[in-house]
Amino acid sequence: MTDLNQTIKSLPKIGDKIEKKLEKIGIKTINDLIFYFPHRYEKYEICENLNKIKINTPINIKVKIDLIRNKRSLRKRMTITEAIVSDEHGSLEVIWFNQPFLSKNLKNGDQISLSGKIIASNGRLIMNSPVYEKINQNEETIHTQGIVPIYNLTYGLTQKQLRFFIKKISHNFSKITEYLPKETLKRQNLIKINEALQKIHFPQKDQDIETAIKYFKFLELFLFQLKSYFLQKELRIKKANKLEIKIEEIKKFIFSLPFKLTDDQKKASWEILQETNSDQAMSRLLQGDVGSGKTIVALIAALNCLLNNKQAIFMAPTEILAIQHYHTVLKLFKNYNFKMALLTSQKKESNFEINVKNKKEISQVICQEADLVIGTHSLISENIKFKNLSLTIVDEQHRFGVNQRQEILNKNIDDQQNITTPHFLSMTATPIPRSLSLVLFNGLKLSSIKTKPKNRLDIKTDIVGPERKMAMYKFIEKEISNGRQAFIICPLIEESENSEAKSVKEEYQKIKKNIFPEIEVAILHGKMKAVEKEKIMNDFLNNKIKIIISTSVIEVGIDVPNATIMLIEGAERFGLAQLHQFRGRVGRGKHQSYCFLSLSENKNNELFFNKNTNNNISIKRLEALKKYQNGLDLAKIDLKNRGSGDLYGKIQSGFMNFKFASIFDYETIKKAREEINFLSQGDSEFKNHPLLLHKIKKNLEKTHLE
Ligand code: ADP
Ligand code: MG
Repeated sequence: MTDLNQTIKSLPKIGDKIEKKLEKIGIKTINDLIFYFPHRYEKYEICENLNKIKINTPINIKVKIDLIRNKRSLRKRMTITEAIVSDEHGSLEVIWFNQPFLSKNLKNGDQISLSGKIIASNGRLIMNSPVYEKINQNEETIHTQGIVPIYNLTYGLTQKQLRFFIKKISHNFSKITEYLPKETLKRQNLIKINEALQKIHFPQKDQDIETAIKYFKFLELFLFQLKSYFLQKELRIKKANKLEIKIEEIKKFIFSLPFKLTDDQKKASWEILQETNSDQAMSRLLQGDVGSGKTIVALIAALNCLLNNKQAIFMAPTEILAIQHYHTVLKLFKNYNFKMALLTSQKKESNFEINVKNKKEISQVICQEADLVIGTHSLISENIKFKNLSLTIVDEQHRFGVNQRQEILNKNIDDQQNITTPHFLSMTATPIPRSLSLVLFNGLKLSSIKTKPKNRLDIKTDIVGPERKMAMYKFIEKEISNGRQAFIICPLIEESENSEAKSVKEEYQKIKKNIFPEIEVAILHGKMKAVEKEKIMNDFLNNKIKIIISTSVIEVGIDVPNATIMLIEGAERFGLAQLHQFRGRVGRGKHQSYCFLSLSENKNNELFFNKNTNNNISIKRLEALKKYQNGLDLAKIDLKNRGSGDLYGKIQSGFMNFKFASIFDYETIKKAREEINFLSQGDSEFKNHPLLLHKIKKNLEKTHLE
């Protein structure tokens, strides 16, 4: 019997080289391979014989090879493989380009299955570069017949290989554990996971794909909500520190701000203050589109906590963002005598003196002494105990996985030596329709900031091909000479150890040498040292640096209101949510801002003129960005694009971490909720469903460690 956690190395035809390639797309074990799903399918209409062929549509034919040979085309410098194939009704020409090995694989007399399009060229009918497969007596054809799965690949790996490997292990589908209870499958009219796997990899008809997707969508939404169910349940019995609303002080603080809070910001702040004014722990999500002004709302909550002489922590997904937030609070709270600190894996800093003999103790002392600690994952991953921690704030929650609070719970001891639970506030820009969030998160409370501050202008967004690049650079130069600043995002390149740094450095060379030799340009990427990052960010904030060339590390959170230009190189390679976040780095002040979506140079023509679905989708994505400013509109478009042929985006959409489901799957979300209600009746701990319970608990543990 095969162990599903066995590495793929144990399979035939997988050597070191292929193993590495597979690892690159996340496949290490047989189990990974089983759950590596196709992202779309190609359908070939089967033509029974050569009398019935159609031109210019994807078809499949079964024929015999009469003749096959290679030819060098000197003019075009390529190898052309020509073949004549036939059946009892007629014959047909076939050509392939630059695949000389074909004539070794295929021999005269072979029976083959060909899939592709037939074109008419100078009065001849030719099948152009079809996918081929030899027909063996006992084996099914998997590459050319009917509905053929298409997987995401990496360089050096082919569809045929991947299909072959999955076919080889498909007997294991039956060993995959079904977590959903039998009664649930029945009530919800779902197939079993083993069938769903078979149907998603090797569908026989369209309906197979539908029923498989129905299963996986339900599974995702069900597990998501069940996790939420357990977390909320656990919370309801936890005691928290009641935080009195220091209304006068808070008013004074709000009055001292350089801007007036919007109505939504006021409402959200009030909701949070009221809910933390209770000894039952709050769990609330603050949602607002990029640039809507979430930070200040969270800081009002933090201020109130500190005014109660209790501790608060603020966690950000990147070091750069943590550093920025730290500087923000130093400035905003400078009139109070709060002890504030920054804690990331590389950088530990505070506005009060810390006396330690051993450097290792710094983190520990910070978390015992500071009133407010701002940091990254390090806040929970290092072995730290907090003191009087009463409010935990997590920025850009969707970046962290699910729920970090449990981790912190066990690390908090208050003055009376009681273990208390901090109130919990998370923030996200993920658009979630309100009616859904209540169901989806099983009672998690939501505050929304729906309108942006009044002074904001729409960000003018444009798609730029190579022919317009010089004009764009001229424009950027002009903006900078008017005092503004710019971000340039480097294109994604195939991942390798230092690719991030490499891509940034190359772009820097180009910009500094050929485009803006007179302008202060700096680079910023994740692998830099914390002090360097901090210096660059500060210089940019103080307008000493005019252009930052960066990678996706600045995708979330970064706030520099004077920056008005966002130039994204290779924009077609990024997902919509990501592009929306990048664009959200500008348009944060009173000036008109611009976002340029620059297409990869060599791909440009292909992108616009090739009717290939994937490329079309990337163009649609960019056009949506041009048209819409708002995250919810974009999430809808993203889903619609996904719907047209793709199972899920080739580029993970990022609007929610589901693969099949989406936040708009209203019916399924409701059904999953009903199912949880049903199963929990008289069995609130899910004791009757040990398998499911095991899966959820394991999952909860995992998300805590992420
Ligand atoms: P996000 O919701 O994306 O986290 P931020 O909290 O970073 O947004 O706020 C974006 C920018 O808007 C910041 O520079 C912030 O100071 C500013 N801002 C916040 N609230 C207001 C307001 N009511 N009026 C004007 N500017 C505001
Ligand atoms: Mg933010």
